[in-house]
Amino acid sequence: MTLNGESQIDVNLLIDGQWTAGSDGLWLENRNPATLENIGRVAVASRPDLERAVNAVARAFKAWSRTPALERSNTLRRAALIFRERADEISRAMTVEQGKPLAESRLEAELAAQIIDWFAEEGRRTYGRIVPGRQPNIQQQVIQVPVGPVASFAPWNFPLTQVARKISAALASGCTIVVKPPEEAPVCTSELVRCFVDAGVPEGVVNMVFGVPGDISSYLVPHPAIRKISFTGSVPVGKHLASLAGQHMKRATMELGGHAPVIVTPSADLAAAARAIVQAKYANCGQVCISPTRILVADSVYDRFTAEFLDNVGNVTVGDGLQPDTKMGPLNNERRLSAMLRLVDDVRETGGEVLAGGKRIDRPGYFFEPTVVAGPSLGGALMNEEPFGPIAILLRYAELEDALEEANRLPFGLAAYAFSDSANDIARITAGVQTGMLGINHTAISFAETPFGGVKDSGYGSDGGLEAMRGYLQPELVTIATR
Ligand code: NAD
Repeated sequence: MTLNGESQIDVNLLIDGQWTAGSDGLWLENRNPATLENIGRVAVASRPDLERAVNAVARAFKAWSRTPALERSNTLRRAALIFRERADEISRAMTVEQGKPLAESRLEAELAAQIIDWFAEEGRRTYGRIVPGRQPNIQQQVIQVPVGPVASFAPWNFPLTQVARKISAALASGCTIVVKPPEEAPVCTSELVRCFVDAGVPEGVVNMVFGVPGDISSYLVPHPAIRKISFTGSVPVGKHLASLAGQHMKRATMELGGHAPVIVTPSADLAAAARAIVQAKYANCGQVCISPTRILVADSVYDRFTAEFLDNVGNVTVGDGLQPDTKMGPLNNERRLSAMLRLVDDVRETGGEVLAGGKRIDRPGYFFEPTVVAGPSLGGALMNEEPFGPIAILLRYAELEDALEEANRLPFGLAAYAFSDSANDIARITAGVQTGMLGINHTAISFAETPFGGVKDSGYGSDGGLEAMRGYLQPELVTIATR
């Protein structure tokens, strides 16, 4: 780890403006997934720490929710500016603790800065409306009120953008927040949080805790002071938190897993499609909720597409994310590595074919080969479970209708993609795929200003765009009778 030249970093909690160790003195280890070296520790929050965080976030809400939107916006913009100044060092820290190539870390840091800037601006536009009254003496206004203190849980695959989304959407709307960034990437996320503090965000407006996720959520979600939950992560945990939020009548935004289908029709530019899909599939070692996974290719072009695809996969250089020629780093943790081994074994046992990769790479760290499988059994694990790793599945289809049926077969509906030059096919795919986001002839579907969220088991609510702001605001009707 290189932040400020230090090789081992202890990451503290941030509670009511104070950087502090956990009150029980417990710590979790932070390891570099490319070398398995210990690179520091992260403090564990226990019950008294969480109590202080909730008291702080509730107290701070009173003043922050009444702070003029322009002043909130200016504070957020200062945070983005400070973050940009520190982005190089923070990106490097993210690569060391999360594993992704440095070029990807830098891109993610830039996107995080754009997210903060965008919400800063959008916070100034939380307009209400006037609804004409039914009597001449009645005035009716709909005003937008911040929902209250928020508890947010951010995942380890995109530590910077996810924490940036959750903090800046909440703060821009006038909400305060207790955020739990990922324990797997505490340095880069706590440095991002520090930018908000250094920008002048008042004490208690942003609180940051780490620890045992289940202990933290089981305290925060039911707590009466917390009015909204925002979670990004797996479907099972999302369902658990959504039901807990439901029991306590809390607003919730749930951005969960996916198993994205990609439809490649006969008219597609096959070389361009293969290049774009390979680039998107192996980015962040496939640990992306919108990663293209089930690639459904029309029979007539399947062989040509497969050859192009495998050619591109051959160029994915695997290595330590700090090496300049690395295109794909290690998996983030041991759980993902064992999941990849299990999924590939299952493909082999159930009649599928491994066209490329399929093995752990023999070196320290959680490295796995960029993997391509063909025709796995429909009932097998890989065709039903989000791989969340570097495995692409190639499948043939005869009629577009069959591809649409396969695309919609799973309970997920986060992202989908299509490559086609046929207006008719594009129209049928657009109308036929059940998804929150659809990329046609490219895969760039995540920006600050665009909605980000899914349907079915992939969750509800949005982490991007206007729709994200709405999740932090409650419309309130004010109706006035004049004399
Ligand atoms: P996991 O299900 O244990 O955890 C997923 C995330 O939820 C982690 O960030 C974890 O810290 C958090 N979490 C777990 N239990 C929690 C609880 N009770 N309360 C609050 N937060 C809790 O899985 P994992 O091994 O960390 O990640 C792998 C799976 O998670 C993947 O298969 C993928 O489906 C999913 N995932 C999705 C996204 C996404 O962007 N939607 C991001 C990360 C992980």
